[in-house]
Amino acid sequence: MSDIIFSSWGREIVENRGDEEQEPVSIKNLDFPEYFKQDEKIKASMGWKGIVLRSPEVDIIDLCREYFEAVLEHSKTCDKCNYCKTGWEEMLEVFQDMANGEATEEDLEFLQSAAEAIVSNAKCSIGKSGPAPLFDALKYFADDFSQAVSGEKQTTKGTYYSKLTAPCMDACPIHLDIPKYVELIKDAKFAESLTVIRERLPIAGIVGRVCFRPCEKHCRRGNLDESISIKALKRFVADHEIAEQKEPEYEIAPSEKTGKVAIIGAGPAGITCAYHLARAGHEITIYEALDEPGGMSAVGIPDYRLPRNILHAEVQQIQKMGVAINYGQTIGNDLTLSQLENEFDAVFIGIGAQDSTKIGIEGEDQEYQGVIPGLAYLREVNAGADPYPQGKKVVVIGGGNVAIDCVRCSLRTGKEDIHLVYRRTRSEMPADEVEIHDAEEEQVQFHFLTAPVRIRAEEGKVVGLECIKMELGEPDDSGRPRPVPVEGSEFVFDCDTIISAIGQQVDLALLAGMDDVQTSPWKTIVVDEYTKQSSRPKIFVAGDCETGPDALITACAGGRRASHSIDRFINGQPLDYDDSHYFDKLFETVKVFDPDEEILKVESKPRFKPGMLPPETRKSNFDEVEQGLSAQEAVAEAERCLRCYQVATIAV
Ligand SMILES: Cc1cc2nc3c(=O)[nH]c(=O)nc-3n(C[C@H](O)[C@H](O)[C@H](O)COP(=O)(O)OP(=O)(O)OC[C@H]3O[C@@H](n4cnc5c(N)ncnc54)[C@H](O)[C@@H]3O)c2cc1C
Repeated sequence: MSDIIFSSWGREIVENRGDEEQEPVSIKNLDFPEYFKQDEKIKASMGWKGIVLRSPEVDIIDLCREYFEAVLEHSKTCDKCNYCKTGWEEMLEVFQDMANGEATEEDLEFLQSAAEAIVSNAKCSIGKSGPAPLFDALKYFADDFSQAVSGEKQTTKGTYYSKLTAPCMDACPIHLDIPKYVELIKDAKFAESLTVIRERLPIAGIVGRVCFRPCEKHCRRGNLDESISIKALKRFVADHEIAEQKEPEYEIAPSEKTGKVAIIGAGPAGITCAYHLARAGHEITIYEALDEPGGMSAVGIPDYRLPRNILHAEVQQIQKMGVAINYGQTIGNDLTLSQLENEFDAVFIGIGAQDSTKIGIEGEDQEYQGVIPGLAYLREVNAGADPYPQGKKVVVIGGGNVAIDCVRCSLRTGKEDIHLVYRRTRSEMPADEVEIHDAEEEQVQFHFLTAPVRIRAEEGKVVGLECIKMELGEPDDSGRPRPVPVEGSEFVFDCDTIISAIGQQVDLALLAGMDDVQTSPWKTIVVDEYTKQSSRPKIFVAGDCETGPDALITACAGGRRASHSIDRFINGQPLDYDDSHYFDKLFETVKVFDPDEEILKVESKPRFKPGMLPPETRKSNFDEVEQGLSAQEAVAEAERCLRCYQVATIAV
């Protein structure tokens, strides 16, 4: 970025003011987009890592005032250290005095000393890092400040956008206010903590068990010792409510105009969409093909990771809010999409990705006994049945979570010999590291750099899987090394059961006759990324059928976004993007989390890890493997949180 006039971003000073002859210096490791919104150019930014100035029109003093207003606004929600709050308030007064031409030289000294006091006394990072850009402003824009206090210069008001974030919040697809709910746990306010989660996410007990934890991967505490057990804390508050036999109270705030909405699919996306629409007073009917709710969290994820009673309890709460669920109703079969479209004010599609992808090898379509698609296998096992009880030697093909769930379920249904074959190496496996580790502990046999070639059968039954060894070549489109077959390395696994778990696809049958609903070449439904509206205005879509197979929290985030759009649609309001969308985009390039940041002056404390059933005890049953935290452990774990709130102000 060479249009920089000045930058102190990341503590690296770039000074392009003054010498016009000189070639402008650019900022390393920072790629600010040119625009914030369509026609609003980013002229400057002030935030936790410093100042970036791109336009001489920006008044640095007014920018500081705006930034301090935003920081003060957000620090008001915290009553932990008065130094911080009163400090910000008093500093803001100085900026207001400057704008009115009433500030003095002493006020400038006060700004410096108040900011220093906040840094040394604040308990969280909004106080520790918040004043950073002020120090830079006072040092590198000293003339502007002097002129402001001597009355030589009047401040000019600009146009700004500000946003509070934190690395964990930014990484969470539904942007849960993690520092806030963790802080409430620290104060033993467990119900209040759950209320904060439920502002966005209705299924804390489910997500608190099986989330892939993008937040923990972006936890600053991880730069010091180990990230906070954010997932386990979420589970703790959800379990605590059940243990206390408390009924949740949901605030219903009806929209000006309410309507009738049909939701197709009672998976995480549909449930979350229904929840938010019910809170806005709309009348919701869910149509679900199966005879139970939860989608893949019920029929895909096995009970040893997510017990059914938790799932059912959370969905029941949503039904108590007035959401009706019609089970055993497949749209496209029992009813058509256009019938729903005619009958309801809006329709949400959250049908997930229900079909297993074919492997494409010889013998797959011969209907041999013992060849089972991964999703069908898990569906039956989760319903308490073994789809092929006579099988004892199992080979599962794939490297994702579905493959890992299949091998671990095979163990639990009494199979004797269980293998997983994957065509790349362990480090390229897309499955969650924790799941891979747990399967290894249970002594599943992994075979890396191995690909299936042909299914062998005798008298219509599987007797083996012919495989070939692979080696890694150049990266493919996904950026991972492409596996290349090693000629002449074929070998055969003796087995009687082959489970294919290489991917999932969306069944688009319900769109029959609706050619104007746009779909992608990889069979997902195309929507506006932010509003979730499809090419047919009354139809909104989110979850795996929009993104392709993904994760619970992504599906919930999509369901929530769609609910906002549906509410606006019913109220006849335009589905404009709001500021948080533009900040999301901005933070994709201006990263909120810095993996190289050194965390200083914090005492190292190990993370509380939830207890686990020992491998020998757990691998023969479906008992929940991961245990919850006790109240004492949860409070102690929450105390490790550094409360990494950060504020960014953009001048446009
Ligand atoms: C085995 C397995 C393990 C996984 N493990 C994890 C994990 O540990 N953590 C994680 O975050 N994610 C995990 N995932 C992914 C996660 O489950 C999905 O991303 C998530 O469930 C998607 O939610 P959804 O609501 O979009 O779809 P789904 O959960 O698939 O729900 C869609 C619902 O729509 C219903 N439906 C479909 N078609 C129709 C129709 N025509 N009419 C009426 N109803 C219909 C389905 O029956 C289903 O109930 C896993 C997935 C699988 C398959």
